[in-house]
Amino acid sequence: MDMRIGLGRDVHRLVAGRRLTLGGVAVPFDKGEAGHSDGDALVHALIDALLGAAGLGDIGEWFPPGDARWKDADSMGLLERVWGAVRGEGWRLVNVDCVVSCEAPRLLPYRQMMRERLAGALGVDAERVFVKAKTGEGLGDVGEGRAVEALAVCLLQRHGA
Ligand code: MG
Repeated sequence: MDMRIGLGRDVHRLVAGRRLTLGGVAVPFDKGEAGHSDGDALVHALIDALLGAAGLGDIGEWFPPGDARWKDADSMGLLERVWGAVRGEGWRLVNVDCVVSCEAPRLLPYRQMMRERLAGALGVDAERVFVKAKTGEGLGDVGEGRAVEALAVCLLQRHGA
């Protein structure tokens, strides 16, 4: 059995006049993620983890920020497209683990919904997808409420060398 680990990280500025979408879930808040797509930092980190594990490039190559096709794109649609390509190479998902950091709002009430949305897009049980919510302890751009940051790791496996 061939196994691969992937790591992804993303950060987006939090600004007025944008929706806050994390893990495919709309989170009520007075600010949202700046970005070319919907700015879903959690999904972007996960996409990079999956692509990295499979050796298929990175999110910037797949969905260039200057490309009008991805303006305000639903990042869950981007995830489904990437996962289709990764799965097409014979990979199966063992598990995903993620950390989302923002000073506000509290994300814990949305965690199970995020797990279920991500797991649904990846075709696995939610038990294989975990999301942890952290704050920045008042430090740096995350702690001062100017940014949301996400980290994701995944493990893929497939038969053969
Ligand atoms: Mg991003």
